[in-house]
Amino acid sequence: MFEKIQEELRRAGVHLVAVSKTKSPDQIMELYRKGQRVFGENKVQELVSKQEALPPDIEWHLIGHLQTNKVKYIAPFVAMIQSVDSLKLLLEIDKQAKKCGRVIPCLLQFHIAEEETKFGLSFQEAETLLSSESFQGLKNIRIAGVMGMATFTEDERQIGKEFRRLREIFLRLKALYFAENPVFSEISMGMSSDYAIALKEGTTMVRIGTLLFGPRQ
Ligand SMILES: *Cc1c(COP(=O)(O)O)cnc(C)c1O
Repeated sequence: MFEKIQEELRRAGVHLVAVSKTKSPDQIMELYRKGQRVFGENKVQELVSKQEALPPDIEWHLIGHLQTNKVKYIAPFVAMIQSVDSLKLLLEIDKQAKKCGRVIPCLLQFHIAEEETKFGLSFQEAETLLSSESFQGLKNIRIAGVMGMATFTEDERQIGKEFRRLREIFLRLKALYFAENPVFSEISMGMSSDYAIALKEGTTMVRIGTLLFGPRQ
């Protein structure tokens, strides 16, 4: 399954984040040996213990909600934080990245689903964040794009609509705030159940767990 998805994504020029939450280091090493280097986790503690146990050339993405008081644990090594949903969090990431002498790539997470429970910014909140004075001063983060999760539904038209909305958000922010900035380039959307739709709607980065590792408990 891994090889098939890897080839499909390679042809499309789309990055693969292998979502390894709840999976063991051995299971991660299986994909590592097949060449996968980018893995995603949604919990800080799990991310830290796996990072300590596994090869140093793995690029770890945090894809779940992040509390400001936990940023310090991942700042020394995290390759990307995909789930930035407030200025407060971004300020803390910048502060901790600076302490480590690093620049941490981040994605702004948007609320595109119908469900109330999913985290994320609205377009207006993102505009407020990006035009704020405290954002302008940040030197140790880079905004590398946007991330979103579609509604959990079988309705493919609904999912397609939500992914199109995220791509529109990306394009508008690019034009308004990142026109001269090639780093702002990623649209992280698509999981096991909906990555085919995300490919059609112009994703640049998919986050796939179940299809690669099998179902979680
Ligand atoms: C778990 C998770 C995924 C992967 O989900 P699968 O359905 O297992 O592919 C993707 N993105 C986020 C934010 C997740 O928490």
